[in-house]
Amino acid sequence: MFEERFGTAPAGTWSAPGRVNLIGEHTDYNDGFVLPFAIQHRTHVALRIRDDGVIRVASTFDDETVELGLDDLTDVFPARRDEVAEWARYPLGVAWALRELAGEQAGSLTGVDLAFASNVPVGAGLSSSAAIEGATAVALAETWALDLDRTVLARAGRTAENEAVGAPTGIMDQMASMLGRADAATFLDCRSLEVEVVDLGFAAAGLEIVVIDTGVSHSHATGGYGERRAACERGAALMGVSALRDLGVDDLPRAAELMDDVTFRRVRHVVTENQRVIDTVRLLREAGPAAIGDLLVASHGSMRDDFEISVPELDTAVEAALSAGAVGARMTGGGFGGAAIALVAHDRVKQVTDAATAAFEASGFSAPTIFTVAPSDGAHRD
Ligand code: ADP
Ligand code: MG
Repeated sequence: MFEERFGTAPAGTWSAPGRVNLIGEHTDYNDGFVLPFAIQHRTHVALRIRDDGVIRVASTFDDETVELGLDDLTDVFPARRDEVAEWARYPLGVAWALRELAGEQAGSLTGVDLAFASNVPVGAGLSSSAAIEGATAVALAETWALDLDRTVLARAGRTAENEAVGAPTGIMDQMASMLGRADAATFLDCRSLEVEVVDLGFAAAGLEIVVIDTGVSHSHATGGYGERRAACERGAALMGVSALRDLGVDDLPRAAELMDDVTFRRVRHVVTENQRVIDTVRLLREAGPAAIGDLLVASHGSMRDDFEISVPELDTAVEAALSAGAVGARMTGGGFGGAAIALVAHDRVKQVTDAATAAFEASGFSAPTIFTVAPSDGAHRD
């Protein structure tokens, strides 16, 4: 595709993975804990240096190649972002964010041609957005010889998504895509951005993660996501803390007295979910992955009943997986659609797949897409 669009071969290719969040949902923007892992699905970018100050981006998503002067990035983002095709705001937004970080080098950055191809399912809660941001960030940082560590590159991805795209997301997806390791998860403190690598040991335990993509599309830029964030901010303000991260399970009785029922249930989800992430890390270390099933199930119940971000398709996927013998299951990602994950013994994957397919058919839902994911390495040059 690069040769087709740009007429020559690229100089190199880089890639970054999507991610699955094992547990810790809607905790990231509350300064809390998350436990995602990078998956084998990746977004690849091919790059060639130009001898002018122009950046061009192309993707298999769109026939149009989008072009901007590097010097124009600061005018376009964020004020005039609507003039840029939506998909192109992700890579161009990363270029803008990195240029802002380049300091004195900003004026002398070389132009580039970039072409993207991806096998990360879009809108399935597997973060194709972090994958395209991460691929762009590692490719540009290396090409521009910017001395930025991976946490800063993850932040640049988040800046692009928040300000250039306009989606108010946290930092989890970008950190997982940047810092992933094979057979391990990334335990992230979203306040300090401290990271611990936690061995998952799925293969040794004979377990797999099955993704059940409902095909119901979600949108971060609109709908309930912003409303949930607002409820969390309201709850924190009522409790006199800067973020819900500062509350523990012991604080919940007081929270129940101070706020309306809906706000309280939003708060209870975040507070208990933070505790479940900590408990999951402890159990993984002490007892191995077969021990975390109940925490996954409790996480799903909390999102369904307290945070109210599940949909019937996700509940059906979780119930079907559990009834077919999954160790645990929960919806993953921002909610309102996307995918559920199930932790399943290797020799039960077929039963779980068949059960989910049958349950969707019986409920009159469109057939789900079902596949397994393996914890994989983060962004790198290919
Ligand atoms: P997800 O859960 O997959 O991250 P998002 O809505 O956050 O869903 O991001 C999906 C959007 O990211 C797509 O609609 C598109 O604009 C952009 N995107 C992701 N991957 C690519 C790609 N390979 N090429 C172009 N745009 C992409
Ligand atoms: Mg996304």
